[in-house]
Amino acid sequence: MNNFAELNLAPEIIRALTESGYTIPTPIQAQAIPLVLEGCDLMAGAQTGTGKTAAFALPMLQKLLPFASSSPSPARHAVRALILVPTRELAIQVEASVKAYAKHSHLRSLVVFGGVDIKTQTPQLRAGVEILVATPGRLLDHIEQKSVQLNQVQMLVLDEADRMLDMGFMPDLKRILALLPKQRQTLMFSATFSNEIKKLSADFLVNPKLIEVARSNATSENVTQKVYLVGHEAKHALLAQLLRGSDAKQALVFTKTKLTASRIARQLQREGFMADAIHGDKSQLERMQALDAFKSGKITVLIATDVAARGLDIDQLPVVINYEIPSAAEDYVHRIGRTGRAGAFGIAISLVSPEEEKYLVEIEKLIKCQIQRAEPPVPEKSPERAPRTEPRAEHHVHIRAAHVSGPKRPVHDAWFNKPYEPSPGKMIETKAVVQVSRPGAQIPALFMRRKTAPSDAED
Ligand code: AMP
Repeated sequence: MNNFAELNLAPEIIRALTESGYTIPTPIQAQAIPLVLEGCDLMAGAQTGTGKTAAFALPMLQKLLPFASSSPSPARHAVRALILVPTRELAIQVEASVKAYAKHSHLRSLVVFGGVDIKTQTPQLRAGVEILVATPGRLLDHIEQKSVQLNQVQMLVLDEADRMLDMGFMPDLKRILALLPKQRQTLMFSATFSNEIKKLSADFLVNPKLIEVARSNATSENVTQKVYLVGHEAKHALLAQLLRGSDAKQALVFTKTKLTASRIARQLQREGFMADAIHGDKSQLERMQALDAFKSGKITVLIATDVAARGLDIDQLPVVINYEIPSAAEDYVHRIGRTGRAGAFGIAISLVSPEEEKYLVEIEKLIKCQIQRAEPPVPEKSPERAPRTEPRAEHHVHIRAAHVSGPKRPVHDAWFNKPYEPSPGKMIETKAVVQVSRPGAQIPALFMRRKTAPSDAED
């Protein structure tokens, strides 16, 4: 499949795609779009980052185009497609994509999610929308308040279905599905295919076509994975060292708990990093602000728990660091799916303490490969032992000097902000498994050593 025109999409959709900069369908799009247009139910195995949103949104829009109306009357804008997602962040992103693809049509879309005042959503819902993106709990609230009718729904998408089950949404899903017309098309997307997912598919889908863009439970081949075996007490110093020793513009760091996420963010801020945390205890506004700041590059390190990070779509995210590895192996697949997206290359690093090694075994079983163990970089010298005038072979900085007694590092670290350099010739590998770059691709240079220290690496 070389271009979107071959998929017989309407000119107004193609125009929006061109404006979004898409030229070639991703594999999931090439497979899913014709089947959805034919009217098949679909069970699709695709990780976030494969282009799965457009895989369901584009044929959905195409099928709804006959219902597009410029009339202001709510009666002319019944909900015809419902997209259920597990988290608010994913809901926002999916709806933003739908809106972008629908911008040259009169189809309306809206997103509703919990954690914000329901009253702000009701008037827009009552005004009528064809495509509704929702988290299950908030949708049920609206149903109870009679601000939405679902009897005209002809397409249902269960996005990140595995996560919805993990998050305990099964009872909510059952209640919602009971309210939808039996005669409808249902599309289910899931990064992993557990037995529960298969059961969900058997209950809610009719003769679904099965498509997979990667082996189920496989991790993206674009992502180089590494493990550092390190004691829990040494993790923070190693994290800071990895961040400072990196050419990568931004990193997403995962923790198991909200408490750890907040603690690390605060500690990194004290050390001069532009860091913030995103987790369930933060208000929706705070989460959105942190995410926007990360997307715009104002924040270079975002610390996240699994739930908060689910579905984040950040362009060209080069590095994911697991400060703690998840006890559920499937979460590992989701986490590292934040990088290496849409054909880009990425690095996923896990800091694994002895107590966590049992989880690592499970992860490796799931992804069916052994993750490379890397040697921790040489610890940085303390300022006493390494005077600032001493020339440094690498571009590491003195993290101890930064947080023991000396002045705070400047909040704005120009080197950390500089773009990645697509110039592999300048670098030599110090550890194996670095992907070969495509021409023009941005390469994360973490763990690559320069032959000469870059001039802007000095503090
Ligand atoms: P998704 O898996 O839906 O979260 O999409 C991951 C990223 O890929 C998003 O930033 C999309 O905007 C982008 N994307 C989706 N389809 C294409 C395409 N055909 N060409 C280029 N980028 C795409």
